[in-house]
Amino acid sequence: MKTVPDYFGCLVFDDRVMKAKLSTSVYRSLKRTIDEGRSLNNDVANAVAEAMKDWAVENGATHFTHWFQPLTGITAEKHDSFISPAPDGRVIMEFSGKELIKGEPDASSFPSGGLRATFEARGYTAWDPTSYAFIKDKTLCIPTAFCSYGGEALDKKTPLLRSMQALNKQAMRILKLFGNEDVKCVRTSVGPEQEYFLVDKEMYEQRKDLRFTGRTLFGAKPPKGQELDDHYFGVIKPRVAAYMADLNEELWKLGILAKTEHNEVAPAQHELAPIYSTTNIATDHNQITMEIMQKVAAKHGLVCLLHEKPFAGVNGSGKHNNWSMATDTGVNLLTPGETPYENAQFLLFLCAVIKAVDDYQDLLRLSVASAGNDHRLGANEAPPAVVSVFLGDELTEVLEAIESDAPYSGAEKTVMKLGVHVLPKFFRDTTDRNRTSPFAFTGNKFEFRMLGSANSIACTNIMLNAAVAESLKSYADRLEGAEDFETALHDLIKKTIKDHKRIIFNGNGYDDAWIKEATEERGLLNLRTTPDALPTLLDKKNVEMLTAHKIFSEAEIESRYEITLENYCKTVNIEGLTMVDMARKEIIPAVEKYVSDIATAYSAKKNSVAGISVKYEEEMLKKLSVLVDEMDAAVKELELALVKYNTITDITEASEDIRDDVLPKMSVLRIACDEAETITAEEYWPFPTYGDLLFGVK
Ligand code: ADP
Ligand code: MG
Repeated sequence: MKTVPDYFGCLVFDDRVMKAKLSTSVYRSLKRTIDEGRSLNNDVANAVAEAMKDWAVENGATHFTHWFQPLTGITAEKHDSFISPAPDGRVIMEFSGKELIKGEPDASSFPSGGLRATFEARGYTAWDPTSYAFIKDKTLCIPTAFCSYGGEALDKKTPLLRSMQALNKQAMRILKLFGNEDVKCVRTSVGPEQEYFLVDKEMYEQRKDLRFTGRTLFGAKPPKGQELDDHYFGVIKPRVAAYMADLNEELWKLGILAKTEHNEVAPAQHELAPIYSTTNIATDHNQITMEIMQKVAAKHGLVCLLHEKPFAGVNGSGKHNNWSMATDTGVNLLTPGETPYENAQFLLFLCAVIKAVDDYQDLLRLSVASAGNDHRLGANEAPPAVVSVFLGDELTEVLEAIESDAPYSGAEKTVMKLGVHVLPKFFRDTTDRNRTSPFAFTGNKFEFRMLGSANSIACTNIMLNAAVAESLKSYADRLEGAEDFETALHDLIKKTIKDHKRIIFNGNGYDDAWIKEATEERGLLNLRTTPDALPTLLDKKNVEMLTAHKIFSEAEIESRYEITLENYCKTVNIEGLTMVDMARKEIIPAVEKYVSDIATAYSAKKNSVAGISVKYEEEMLKKLSVLVDEMDAAVKELELALVKYNTITDITEASEDIRDDVLPKMSVLRIACDEAETITAEEYWPFPTYGDLLFGVK
């Protein structure tokens, strides 16, 4: 039997394959490109392309594609076969360096938010050699960045790579000040924990809401939900276990480090976590993971729901972005060190993150904004929409002691001056098991928990890297000119704590009292919905920071603003239309049928025995008829709201209209329909219920 190490990464053109298939000199040039960002010359590109093609063909591939991440949030590919006609009528398999390095997909149908006039259809894809090529569905996939004719980024990868560069640049300045001469670069790493639901495919097919929108728009609560906590970490059911085994195998073949799997809190909910990797690779891998999750599900007669809130009344799905910074020499900059100097360095990087999160709460919040995630945040199952940082009591005490020059008990009651005293070893175990914090320090990394399950992790990491780069820049600017480094460092840390301690909160983030304190006393932002959050992207301070670090141009920022709001509006519009359709064509007719059968029974009964009781029938007929009227009225109201929304041309106004008018009307319709479901006989209900879906996979 083949063991995992035998087939791990067998579909990836990774370092092992490169070494085996490339000449030493070509391999060395390619390595320099990967490690140091040097450009490749033509001969090398041709040699690499040739080797990649041979390897891909040996492994069953017939096509190649530039694989990229347009602003739709999913990945895109356009397949070309390797075939090329030979003079004798046969074909040969060909692939050139030019085809490897650059592609020209028709870009006109990808969202660009006004970056590219539709008549200018050209877009370019450019090879990202830092992320390995791989084979999927008999196609060699080449990870690429995607930009317009004018050079603006039309994707999520380009700004992500830029943000990693920005952070690297500023972190290196700080590391120099601490005398780290051997470090060549700093990279950010991410381990994204991915939550998802599995439902039976046959049931899924019967529900238009799931098919069109990925979530249920109707559905009364089943008698049992997640209240017994009997699903979390529970025994995995055989069908799910078979799915997970298959999924792991597919991911391992693609070199994805799938590591942990377990049942989540809600029935039918599960989680998969990989071992962390460099941010752009982790991002690529998370996109592939989501895709493979859905594909493997189909093979098992299942559907994998990645929506943030597929079911009302039970937990939705999120994605935890575990983030850290490390040097190429293997030092995690968020690990407390052994010596005073290392600890001072650790504290400075820690402070940089605290300052970044406080200064750019809005950017972090909007990086996870979507119609689906709006249902989760603040719903007592996921962090609130207010961003705060959890540090744990011990670390918080250390910072308080530094701020007030007070003795810290952990350091033998001495006044803590940085660079003089060794910090206590804090750690890991004493920190977080607080699951309610949006941004928690977990010993040697930060875990950002606001992401929705369907989100690409690119957006969050762009903003996080950018904000931390900005903190580090301001620190480096001050410290590089300082006369006395140690005093300047001490003052800087002290000042950061003083200025930004409002963002530190170790209590229960689900508590209403916290939201009140956060907004009223601490002045933190509470951007509850996507239309609340997005406009802050255009705030001067945000535009200035993002452009100064060359992460986005102004035009790119505006395009992201438009695209995100457009996506929000379109998503809810589709949901609204689906509700109208289901209520009108399925739910109301089903209830009417039931009413008519009860009415028939009522007449039959009345004509059978003199004075017979028809109380039940009368009550049911009255109740159901009132509900039918309510449903009918709510459908009409929603329809009108959607018509009105469709006349609004300004995207900001349109999104506000969706939030203030369309969504509330969807909610009214849902309440009436869900109530009808609870009193309609089961056999009349037109599609599988919550009970069927949530407990249907054995
Ligand atoms: P949890 O208790 O949240 O499940 P784990 O310790 O299991 O936490 O880690 C969750 C994720 O964090 C995994 O994907 C893991 O690889 C990742 N992770 C661990 N260390 C780091 C690090 N230094 N940087 C980034 N991610 C990390
Ligand atoms: Mg976690």
